[in-house]
Amino acid sequence: MGVTLRLYDTSTRSVRDFEPVRPGEVSVYLCGATVQAPPHVGHIRSGLAFDILRRWLEASGYRVTFIRNVTDIDDKILQRGADEGVPFWQVAMRNERAFTSAYDVLGCLPPTYEPRATGHVPEMVDLMQRLIDSGHAYAAGGDVYFDVRSFPEYGALSGQRLDDMQPAADSDADVKRDPRDFALWKGTKPGSAEATAHQGEPSWQTPWGPGRPGWHLECSAMASRYLGPVFDIHGGGMDLLFPHHENEIAQSQAAGDTFARYWMHNAWVTTSGEKMSKSLGNSLLVSEVVQRVRPVELRYYLGSAHYRSMLEFSDEAMAEAAAAYRRIEGFLRRACEELGDAPDSSAVRPSAFDAALDDDLGVPQALAVVHDTVRSGNAALAAGDLVSARDARDAVAAMTSVLWLNPYEAPWSAQADDGAARRALAPLVEVVLEQRAAARERKDFGVADALRDGLAGSGILVEDTPSGPRWSLAEED
Ligand SMILES: [Zn+2]
Repeated sequence: MGVTLRLYDTSTRSVRDFEPVRPGEVSVYLCGATVQAPPHVGHIRSGLAFDILRRWLEASGYRVTFIRNVTDIDDKILQRGADEGVPFWQVAMRNERAFTSAYDVLGCLPPTYEPRATGHVPEMVDLMQRLIDSGHAYAAGGDVYFDVRSFPEYGALSGQRLDDMQPAADSDADVKRDPRDFALWKGTKPGSAEATAHQGEPSWQTPWGPGRPGWHLECSAMASRYLGPVFDIHGGGMDLLFPHHENEIAQSQAAGDTFARYWMHNAWVTTSGEKMSKSLGNSLLVSEVVQRVRPVELRYYLGSAHYRSMLEFSDEAMAEAAAAYRRIEGFLRRACEELGDAPDSSAVRPSAFDAALDDDLGVPQALAVVHDTVRSGNAALAAGDLVSARDARDAVAAMTSVLWLNPYEAPWSAQADDGAARRALAPLVEVVLEQRAAARERKDFGVADALRDGLAGSGILVEDTPSGPRWSLAEED
């Protein structure tokens, strides 16, 4: 396999030829969610960006091992458990499942393995022991700290000088050798809420006393557990560059591992120019947004910006993206009707499409090739040129397959935009829904239910929502 893929490597601040450690295989570690709340669209962008990377690597013939962790212990998870009066692991499990279903609904492949931090304390203790033995870490006051002055390369990834850095914000400074030393392990403080609290408070025994892991330590321990001391790509959101990834490098390299050879960072989703935050309420939860657009349209929208570009989220931009996706879908449907058969998604892709993805995952340029092909395919259909129309249709199917946007593939095929049938039905269904509303108004619930059941019997499902009833066509089995 010759080198064709080039990726932007944050650690060199340049686009580099991608050459894996082992020919034909790629190992990827992606920092996964801290499961303190269900995901909004900003959280899920990272999973989606790296799903596109993984699918492109696989389409290029690589065998990919993809590890994405779950941070299931963290101050905010503990706090939420305390606020709700439930064990931390109940909060973590609930939100881990919300993340899993959001990844699933957007068509992100499940990771090869998804390690949880709490299941890897022995690996973390082992890593801390190596760091203490080699003089890069020390125990103090029940905690264990990384000695940043012992690692001259500290700051290289994020391009900072140690002397310019702020103190690490993760614990009291008075036991540290340097205020910028960061916690590998947080000791259980005698008399603290953690020491006395209810069932489920986390504490593990170590040679340095009981406590729980620091966030940075978890990823170093889990990455090497599953990918070994050297692996190909480490990914995550741009907001993790410092201190999280800087600290991961310090821990792993000080312990003697080579660690990641390429560092990839995706940009944020912004609203009104600012990083999306949890204070924005529920309207941007993935589970809510996929009530407003089809999941495949959300995948198209979030994937359509280059992964290193900020994506300013708005319902208007999402609607435009959905319309662009429906142009692709509409062409494929018309072509299939005209040609009388199904598209061949194993057809040869236009070389410009492959070249765009090989150039640091240029999805916007790749989608431009898709839309150009749709336009020429529509022109071919209009001219009755079925040979060209077939070529265009199959090329579009092959390209959208790679990006996991092919409307003829599961799961999207079950969510097809049945536009024409829906438009014809809409006025009829509206009449029935108005009659039902009138029946409810006069408290004639028998009639209201009968109208609803009548629709259901015709395969039209009615759901009552805060903004009124919404109907959909039942899926055929
Ligand atoms: Zn991480």
